[in-house]
Amino acid sequence: MRPFTYARATTPDEAVDLYGEGSAYLGGGTNLVDLMRLGVALPSQLVDVTRLPYDRIEVDGDGLLIGATVRNSDLAAHAVVRERFPVLARAVLSGASGQIRNLATVGGNLLQRTRCSYFQDVTRPCNRRELGAGCSAREGDHHNLAIFGNTPECIATHPSDMAVALAALDANVVIHGRDEIPLDSLYGHDPVRNSTLEPGDLITHVRIPALDGMTGTYKKVRERASFAFALVSLAAAVDVKDGVIQDCRLALGGVAAKPWRARRAEAALRQAPATVPEFSRAADAELAGAEPLRGNAYKVDLARNLIVGTLSELAGAR
Ligand SMILES: Cc1cc2nc3c(=O)[nH]c(=O)nc-3n(C[C@H](O)[C@H](O)[C@H](O)COP(=O)(O)OP(=O)(O)OC[C@H]3O[C@@H](n4cnc5c(N)ncnc54)[C@H](O)[C@@H]3O)c2cc1C
Repeated sequence: MRPFTYARATTPDEAVDLYGEGSAYLGGGTNLVDLMRLGVALPSQLVDVTRLPYDRIEVDGDGLLIGATVRNSDLAAHAVVRERFPVLARAVLSGASGQIRNLATVGGNLLQRTRCSYFQDVTRPCNRRELGAGCSAREGDHHNLAIFGNTPECIATHPSDMAVALAALDANVVIHGRDEIPLDSLYGHDPVRNSTLEPGDLITHVRIPALDGMTGTYKKVRERASFAFALVSLAAAVDVKDGVIQDCRLALGGVAAKPWRARRAEAALRQAPATVPEFSRAADAELAGAEPLRGNAYKVDLARNLIVGTLSELAGAR
């Protein structure tokens, strides 16, 4: 591991002042320190942000303001999160292990790096580590990689379960000294950048608006039950009245370099009867835009089944 210095900030201004060239903010360290051990991340200084005053979850009308240093386990256990936003509590609980969730922070979870094995292996070319080096995954093992938004440069997926739920919840990300931005803008469209943040940008909170009468849940398909990243996951929320879908939100995980908001499916579902054929039609509308590769075409069927099954369960449809 390359030598580095460590500094602990107690105020946001101090954190930003301490952050210099080559620095990285340190949350729980469960992703960053792993990447430092692997030689993928080479910060010269860690600025520990876990003592900043962002460790609270505040009820904000019918919404929530979640501090960036709230631990994942505290977020999932919070009474209001469990009661009003079960989609978020379930997503967080489906991620990692209890020990890791005890350390991992909200800010760090959103900015964790892809789990593409070629990104983590410094002996293999990877455009995310070094733009222009090439993408080993495209011709290699990509069974767990993206089917939406792929580019010649990169087919990585974003690993966060929490971010998928937050995408469905229309969450905003609050950045110190800047206007808050929609979660979707945090990830942007760049094929190789992890986020649209500039060096030194500090996430302070995540804001979730009211869910307006929708019920939601999070489902995740993975290769083992104990802990594993999503092959495909779905955050879904629907409002059904008299058998008709009034509103719905769908976000897929494990299929793109960012949480994939399934807006085509949402559009197909609004004001449609809450029936299995309509759910299938909506899933097909979304998945028509998928561009799977040789080794991950199975994800298209998996995503379709997940959308239809989850909506059927939420809407009590046959
Ligand atoms: C074995 C294992 C299994 C896992 N399984 C899953 C899973 O199934 N689902 C899932 O979602 N996750 C999973 N994870 C990942 C885990 O959720 C992340 O490692 C964790 O959420 C990262 O949070 P952290 O606070 O430790 O981040 P850190 O490792 O401290 O930081 C991650 C990144 O965020 C940046 N950062 C941290 N805080 C801020 C801030 N406030 N502002 C700006 N930048 C910041 C850091 O500089 C770094 O770049 C797993 C991890 C492991 C080790």
